[in-house]
Amino acid sequence: MKILSDFNLNELTLELANYPKFRAKQVFDAIIQGKDYFETTLPKQMQGELKQNYLIKPLEIFKVLKSKDGTKKYLLKLYDNNLVECVFLKQDYGNTICMSTQVGCRMGCKFCASTLNGRIRDLTAGEMLSTIAVVNADNGKRTERNFTNIVLMGSGEPFDNYENVVKWLELITDKNGFNVSERNISLSTCGLVDKIYEFSKLNFNITLCISLHSTTDEVRKTIMPISNAYSIDEIVKALHHYVKENNRRVVFEYCLIKDVNNQDADIERLKKLTKGLLCHVNVICLNPNGGSLKATTRQEAIEFVNKLNSVGVSATLRRSQGSDIEGACGMLRAKTLNEKC
Ligand code: SAH
Repeated sequence: MKILSDFNLNELTLELANYPKFRAKQVFDAIIQGKDYFETTLPKQMQGELKQNYLIKPLEIFKVLKSKDGTKKYLLKLYDNNLVECVFLKQDYGNTICMSTQVGCRMGCKFCASTLNGRIRDLTAGEMLSTIAVVNADNGKRTERNFTNIVLMGSGEPFDNYENVVKWLELITDKNGFNVSERNISLSTCGLVDKIYEFSKLNFNITLCISLHSTTDEVRKTIMPISNAYSIDEIVKALHHYVKENNRRVVFEYCLIKDVNNQDADIERLKKLTKGLLCHVNVICLNPNGGSLKATTRQEAIEFVNKLNSVGVSATLRRSQGSDIEGACGMLRAKTLNEKC
């Protein structure tokens, strides 16, 4: 089965060349609106023919959890019964959708629930587009865009699914579709250095975020296995290159973990490694996933950020949303899989 949302409008027009040209646009609009065949105005015969070869809606809402603060966490069921997560964050300055790029993840970061069962498979560009379409339709008029920002910070490592993610970036920014501004998209990576260089060449105006979470390779290796492949120095060098090519500020994500990465020496090292780099540090309070890593208090996190600011490092503490509904990466999926077992 082919997935119709994998095609852009031109490709769809070629793929559906047996039908009048306007049908391709009708199908394309139905995809953007998160519709299944029966919800479209396509002739019944065409619906029947397409159904035999193509999925128009490759996923559906399986479960939704609503937080007190308006955050909604979705568990989406793919056509092959795999589950992925997506979070809709209600915000005054424009709603944000946080989405997954893979079913599971193989990066093995110790603090992250997405990786507990490894990587099952990549999402296609169309599955990622349909994630947005389905969640958008559930949060207002399906003919309108009910969000402003998208962050690729759900399950999966975007640069481990590089080609699909690049294709998705083209689809989601397409004028015929959601027409999301590149500036409103953030891609978070654990630091696949080769891909940072490759991605630099494409000149997308998105915000590149790096999950740093440690200031020494020694500590980083204990919580992020990817550090065995790339050192912090190599990441920082790649980021300098990225900023030079794209002239976009990069963001370091720094999840504060008690007694692991919250020392004064970390402040000094963060100062050193951010020196001369157009960047910002986003400090996050760890959402403990049941492992051995412990969170700091919010007050300690505030003090950590203040110290960074006082030594001239641009840093803020990320507002925590949806922590009452398994808001952190992969937690809802992990819990649901456990319940099923
Ligand atoms: N693989 C990509 C994207 C997914 S994780 C990457 O590594 O960047 C994106 C972010 O989710 C991480 O940087 C971290 O900030 C956050 N995250 C994951 N698990 C978390 C947890 N238990 N508590 C708080 N934040 C978490």
